[in-house]
Order: sequence, then structure tokens, then C-alpha cells
Amino acid sequence: MLSLCGDSSPTRCYHNVLGRIRILPDQVANKIAAGEVVERPASVVKELLENSLDAGAANVRVEVESGGRRLIRIVDDGCGMLRDDALLAFERHATSKLRDVKDLLSIATLGFRGEALPSIASVSRLLLETRAAEETTGTRIEIAGGKMLRCEEAALGGGTVITVRDLFYNVPARRKFLRTEPTELAHIASLVTHYSLAHPEKTFLLSSGPTELLHVTPVATMKERVYQVFGSQVLDELVEIGTKEREMYLPPPSVPASKAIAEYRREPGADDDPPTRLFRLSGFFSRPQVQKGNRNSIYIFVNGRLIRDRLLLHAISSAYHNLMPASSYPFALLFLECDAEEVDVNVHPSKTEVRFRHGSFIHDFVRDTLRERLMESRPAPAFSPRTVESAQPAARLPYSEFSQMIENEPAAPSLVEPGVVEPPAPKEPVDAELPSFTLRPAAGPAPRFDFSAPPLEITPGPPPSGKLSRHLDAHGEFPPDAIPAPEVSLTALSDLRPLGQIHESFIIAAGRDGLWIIDQHVAHERILFEQVMKQRAAGRVEMQRLLMPLILQLTPEQQIDYARIADELNASGFETEPFGNRTIAVKAAPANLGAAELEKILYEILEIAETELRGASLDDLRRNICASIACRAAIKINMRLDTAKMEWLLRALAATDCPMSCPHGRPIAMHYSTRDILKGFHRI
Ligand code: ADP
Ligand code: MG
Repeated sequence: MLSLCGDSSPTRCYHNVLGRIRILPDQVANKIAAGEVVERPASVVKELLENSLDAGAANVRVEVESGGRRLIRIVDDGCGMLRDDALLAFERHATSKLRDVKDLLSIATLGFRGEALPSIASVSRLLLETRAAEETTGTRIEIAGGKMLRCEEAALGGGTVITVRDLFYNVPARRKFLRTEPTELAHIASLVTHYSLAHPEKTFLLSSGPTELLHVTPVATMKERVYQVFGSQVLDELVEIGTKEREMYLPPPSVPASKAIAEYRREPGADDDPPTRLFRLSGFFSRPQVQKGNRNSIYIFVNGRLIRDRLLLHAISSAYHNLMPASSYPFALLFLECDAEEVDVNVHPSKTEVRFRHGSFIHDFVRDTLRERLMESRPAPAFSPRTVESAQPAARLPYSEFSQMIENEPAAPSLVEPGVVEPPAPKEPVDAELPSFTLRPAAGPAPRFDFSAPPLEITPGPPPSGKLSRHLDAHGEFPPDAIPAPEVSLTALSDLRPLGQIHESFIIAAGRDGLWIIDQHVAHERILFEQVMKQRAAGRVEMQRLLMPLILQLTPEQQIDYARIADELNASGFETEPFGNRTIAVKAAPANLGAAELEKILYEILEIAETELRGASLDDLRRNICASIACRAAIKINMRLDTAKMEWLLRALAATDCPMSCPHGRPIAMHYSTRDILKGFHRI
């Protein structure tokens, strides 16, 4: 049976199960989701990297050339392979990680199919150099296009080096489908980066030719690893989950009635406790103001395996409901741990999809956990004007700097034989291509980060140039004690002093830490939204009766949608009833709504019901209705507010659960911290 050493961290090592490769019996082999695992250079890197991790390596070095087309080399210090095993490893379905069909139900290693090495060896020139600790000499095996060229003893250090050259050299059709080198390299870099995040206790090094793209040394926590990889600015934009757990009681197995009655009559014994399953979630995700156009910045690991899963993606999006526009996505790095029996990893050839036994439990666990943490952190959006950004070159969440770096790399000579015209690269699909992330080129040892110190401590640095320095001297240094600790929470809003409005739309306010600009309409929208949601939950929505019922004509489609949402509409403060054929009468409406808005808002709700909410949950429908009411009832832009009104608005906003974004996900406030201001004026 597979055993797992190590603690509860997502990091596992399995070296004790390696070194004894067997060819799987047919009945096991046939049950494995078969398929080609080598699709592109990144899939080779993924398989080899996973093998190194399965082998218990503490150091993994990945070297590539030409986006992995010309060369991929993975060097690890894992358990290595015995001579006989090294030969066997290139047979189909040869693995040391599975024995029988039963093991397929609880796979704890990243690999299990015994397919990767033979597949890779059949489409490249592969060199394996390996030595197990038990043997005094190592083994060198060379294979090209699946043909064994050489197998010899060699004096080697411990661990394994696999060198894959000229990928798809013998399958031109495949080679033509590869994307540009920078794209392939970006995929590889994204993969190595994210595996490095999953294993903070290991060293990872990635280089492309002479350029070192990532070099991270062991650290104690995932937070430190995030810092190593993305830098402090990104870390500030993230919320850490910590470790959250939820236990599930398994439903009793269905048993025939006669047996159930016998069970019921039996005296309860010590072993009658309901069996439970524990799910654990950790990782990081972005504050709502970090908004991305696709899902490429969402990384989900289930039991240490990087996967893509619609259910979990949906859970993440629902956590941001009413905090972010539906078309935007956050950055997320999530690690879900559960019993191996709870997740079937044998559903997809490249093992990137899984099936959960209790999917809806996991969905709700992830959604609730993220949402709770988002609410707890009540983060303030930072206002980073261009001048400040350029003064502070730190890694940003989108794949800016890194992509820039690889896009600027000189293109390597094409691998295509002369005379063969390479077809133009197909247009990249927006969602599936180019993973988003940023890497700092790792020059020298990775920076250390002292997490015990308060974040963003300000130490005025040396003046940047002589000219500027004289200028600074003339105007005096800003006393460092006068710089307040940066505000991280919008509770600070309650201390704000409104100074006035811009364009009668945005409130300018001074606070303990700098300047705030608040969009008056969306701020009021958030206040009203939470108010209406609370009233709705308590079943007491404030209503106003209309002097004359409002009669609305509906299209047949609207009629169907109306019938579906009528109860919810009435519970939200609209008293409506059918009034003849395809007509409804509205007799009362939520308080605050102007009569002129009423018709618009009802048609708007019907439109939302039609376009977005067919099949959506009742909760989503309710939130959307409340959001529409709030939007229509809120003060508008281009409206003059006196100081008392502005003060009231800021206090009320500070008291909301989520003062950073409106129910449609738009930001409410921008913050220019004292530090930003000082930086902007080159005073620090
Ligand atoms: P799988 O990982 O599904 O078992 P692979 O074809 O990837 O199949 O690898 C076959 C076997 O080769 C593995 O089961 C393992 O025993 C051995 N192996 C592969 N890579 C390494 C490595 N880096 N270190 C030690 N053993 C390895
Ligand atoms: Mg493998």
C-alpha cells in the first residue's frame, strides 16, 4: 500500500514507494484513463517534475532551451532508480506507484500510470542518468524515437537527470502545432512557479539558456515562498487563508430495511461514531480590486496536484459575487487537502482534472471560506498612480515583467527543416493561453523577508541623484515619524474628513493616512445593498404604497421570467400581481425608490432574470434584485452634497461589511497613502 511520509502540509514524499517498478497487469492498465500525455514542452516538464517530487527530491533544477523544443533537462536529488528499474521505466504501464486496482482508489502520488517516460522517449532524444542510494554505480540510458541506443553503467552522483532533446523531432505534425517559443516558455515557467509555491520547503531553479528565470531556496512558510516568487507588492494584494478545515459526516450506506431495523435495535457500540471526512483549505487569493480578464491566474492544487476544475472555479467566482463584476476573475492559489479516496485523479489523460466524491460539499466549503476571509480582511484598495508605480518597480500580478522578458528574448533558429513552410501560429484563445504571472529575474540569492516586522516599514533611502538631492535638501526631509502606518482596512473611513467633491461626483477626503477619493454613487449603492439584504433576510423590507398601481406590459418571455421570480420580487418589497394577459400591476415598491425609477428597475430585473439568471440559484437572484434596488435608489453622480451628507455617507460606508466594492463589483474608493504621496514627490 502507498504510504505517505511527512505531516499535514501539502508536501508529500513518496520515496519509500519508489525503486521497485512493476509492469501493471492488463486489468489494471486497462482501467487507467489512457491518452497521450505529451502535448507540448510544458507537459514534458510537468511529468518529469512530478516524477522528481514523487521521488522525494529536495532540489529540482529545470533547464530549457528554445521554449523546451530544443532541450528540457530536469535534475533532481530524489531516490534515483535501480539499474533494472531504469530499464523497466520505459515500458508502457511500468510504475512503482501502483499495484492493483484497489490502489487506483486512493492515489497519493502525482504519477501512477507508468506512461510518461515511454511516451516522452518515443517523441524525443532522451538521456536518463540515475543512481539509487542502494547501488554504487549509476545507469545511463539513451533512447531516440523510442529506440534504445545505449544502456551502460556510469559513475554518477545520487538522484536522476533526464535530458530531453529535440521534442517531436520525429513527429513533424506535432511540432507544427507548437506555439511560439515565448508562449511555450511561459507555460513551462508558470508550471514550475506554481509547483514551487506548493513546495516551499524545496529548492527550485528554472533557467532558459543563460537566463535564470526562477530560483527559490527553502523557506518555512508558503507566505515566504509567495514573497520570493512574486514580491511584497503582490503579497499586499493577497489575502491569506491560513488553514481552514471543514468536517463532513458521511451519509450512512444504504442498507436493506431488514438490516437497518436490526442495526437500529442493536445497542450502540464504541465503533458506531459516524465516519467523517476532513477537508482542509489553505493558500492565498486576491482582494476584489485585483481583477483579471480570464481564469489563468487561478491555481488549484488538490492533494499537491495542480488541476483545473470547473466546480472549484465556480466556487471561487461565487465567493466574489457582488464584490467583482461577473466577467472578472481573481488571482488565487489554493491548496485543498482531503482523503485520497475523496478524489478520483484517474479521469483525464494528463491528470489535470479530477472528480470529487462529494463535490457540492467541497464547492460550498471553498466558497464560504474565501468569502469569510474576504469579509474579515475588509481591505482597502490602494491607489497607484503611474508616477508611483514607476518609482517602485515590484512584481505585479499580471504577467508583465516576466512576459516582457521572454518576449524580448531573441528568437532561436527554427527547428523546421529547410524548405518546409511553418504554418502561421494559430491565434491564441484568450482564456486558455499564456498563463498570467510575474517572475522577478532571480539575480543572486533570493531576498529574505522578515515577517515579524510590520509590512511596508518605511526607511527613507538615499537620495537618487545629486541634483535631486540638493533639491530635497532645500525643501527639507519629511520626518519619518510623521509617516503613519499604512491603512490596510477601510474602517479608516470613519475617521475621514470630507474636503469637498470633484465634478459633484467624487468625494475627496483626508484621513490619518493620506487622501481618499470616493465615488458617491457606488458608496451609497453598497450601503443600500447591505441594508436591503438585511431587511430581506429578516423578512421586513421597508415599502411604500403607490397612489395608483403601475401597469406593466410584458413580452411572452418576460411573462415566463416574471412567473419564475414573482415570489422573490414580492419578498423584496415589490407588491406585484398578474393583471390580465401579459400585464402586471405593481401596487407597492421598496422605500427610497423614486416613482420614475420603478418601471426601469422592474424591466431591468426581468432582463437580468432573462440573460443571467436562468438556472441560477435563488441566492443569486435575491442578490441581483437587491443590487438593482440599491443602484436605482442610490444618490447619483453629478449631485451636490453638503458636508453633513458627505460625513454621513462616509460613516455609513465604514459600517458596511464590504466597503471596498459596489454590489456589481466596481471599486468604491481609491486611496493615496501618505507613502504614495511622499514617493510621488520624491521625498522618500
Ligand atoms: P509514473 O510516474 O506514472 O509511475 P513514469 O513513466 O512517469 O510513470 O515513471 C515510471 C517510473 O520511473 C516511476 O514509477 C518511478 O519509479 C520511476 N521514475 C521516474 N522518474 C523518476 C525520478 N526522477 N526519480 C526516481 N524514479 C523515477
Ligand atoms: Mg510520472
